[in-house]
Amino acid sequence: MVKKIQEFHLNFNKEFFPKWKGVSYDEKLLYLSIALAGEVGELSNVVKKRHRKKIHELKADDINEEEYKKKITEELVDVFVYTVLFSNELGIDLEKEFYKKMEKNKIKFKNGSTK
Ligand SMILES: [Mg+2]
Repeated sequence: MVKKIQEFHLNFNKEFFPKWKGVSYDEKLLYLSIALAGEVGELSNVVKKRHRKKIHELKADDINEEEYKKKITEELVDVFVYTVLFSNELGIDLEKEFYKKMEKNKIKFKNGSTK
């Protein structure tokens, strides 16, 4: 399933960002790491605003549960998009690596470790 998404994005990139292939490897990774961190920041900001509103009992920035979830969803998808892009750039099979990592986590948590 993720493989299909990775392939989709490869074609998407070719169609909409044809100059991407001319960018150097290091520049691509630099750009992608900044973009990914930026999207994680945007996600955190959505949650932060909600938290700040609660703590200070602010009336401003009032959004309902549906809007809140919609904003979080958008940012999570942005994080995923850059994760896919980053993986594609490095030739990483994201689905395979996901399951590999979860197997490692199983062992770790079975042993009572959180590190
Ligand atoms: Mg975003």
